[in-house]
Amino acid sequence: MKELDIHKIRADFPILSREVYGKPLVYFDNAATTQKPQCVMDKINEMYTTVNANVHRGVHFLSQAATDEHEASRRTVQEFINAASSNEIVFTRGATESINLVASSFCRDFCREGDELVITAMEHHSNIVPWQLQCDYYGLKLEVVPINAEGELILDELEKKITSRTKLIAVTHISNVLGTVNPISRIVEIAHRHDIPVLIDAAQSVQHRKVDVREIDCDFLVFSSHKVYGPTGVGVLYGKEKWLDALSPYQGGGEMISSVSFQKTTFNSLPFKFEAGTPDFVGTAALASALRYITSIGLENIDLYEHELLRYATEKLLAVSGLRILGNAADKSSVISFLVDGIHPYDMGTLLDKMGIAVRTGHHCAEPLMRELGVEGTVRASFAFYNTKEEIDMLISGIQRIVQMFR
Ligand code: PLP
Repeated sequence: MKELDIHKIRADFPILSREVYGKPLVYFDNAATTQKPQCVMDKINEMYTTVNANVHRGVHFLSQAATDEHEASRRTVQEFINAASSNEIVFTRGATESINLVASSFCRDFCREGDELVITAMEHHSNIVPWQLQCDYYGLKLEVVPINAEGELILDELEKKITSRTKLIAVTHISNVLGTVNPISRIVEIAHRHDIPVLIDAAQSVQHRKVDVREIDCDFLVFSSHKVYGPTGVGVLYGKEKWLDALSPYQGGGEMISSVSFQKTTFNSLPFKFEAGTPDFVGTAALASALRYITSIGLENIDLYEHELLRYATEKLLAVSGLRILGNAADKSSVISFLVDGIHPYDMGTLLDKMGIAVRTGHHCAEPLMRELGVEGTVRASFAFYNTKEEIDMLISGIQRIVQMFR
């Protein structure tokens, strides 16, 4: 374990030194998207300046160079999550598209009317709606595993939801609202005992802790580049080769074919079968750069540092009169949702913004969870390893000023 040099780290993120409304920016909306280190922006510039050409299509020098870069990025992602093969890494536009891909192809190939899919009460809309679309189309049933008062999954209920008709379980690794870290290895173990594949939504986890798909033994795992310090518009779908082999293509077009005639088309090998059209090879190169950057800092160091921020912020927030935190799981990541008596989350967010402090307000794309919690929305502060205790102090004094204004 090494102590992070936060001063040096912050210097890698140019946006952190800007001001908003004449105040230093305090960026606590990292669960929505993370800021980008200079190396990621440099990579984008370098790609367009020196390598730009379409991948997989040309015999010329630049096309080969762009293809090499794109495929090297795939191997970087493979290593990052410890996948067995780069064939198991499919590039998409984001976690949402990755889930839609699995939902669409899996339900088409493996589900029949009356079959069941299991999700949880703390899912992001991106891990609800794609399954609902398939449920409507094929006449499937969506089962939901409830949570307890602390915001943890009730695992006994998961076992009870599993029937002979259950075809897949899709669960978030870390809740974007509650910060709850779900026991995904245990969930996979339970599911596999019943021969049911599991999809893990890792959109809120790969940036905070080491995720090893072989250790977890999940069948699918998804995440978004922009939440892991990479560029927007790129996502990852990991799938075990046996599953990706068994699934039909999601979209048709260039790249994903082996041969095309008007009578019959045959499909390309993995992972290209799922990558129709020109991929964002500039984005994938920049994602690889982001992954190398956080690997060089060390996810264990990031995890420890962010846990200290979480502990510090939780203690300070709970000392504010009338403030309550939603989500008190024993295993929690660096997201805190809270409400203050008599102050609407929108007012809190707007006033904090005027002080230069960016937090999220609203339902956080988890309306069913809000209903479960009996609230319309929350204020959410989410931390990254470039945040500091001094910034948390600024948040606390901002909240205290707002509380004074309202009392
Ligand atoms: N899943 C979770 C848990 C999320 O927090 C998010 C985004 O906030 C998503 C999925 C969707 O990610 P994207 O919009 O990048 O596809």
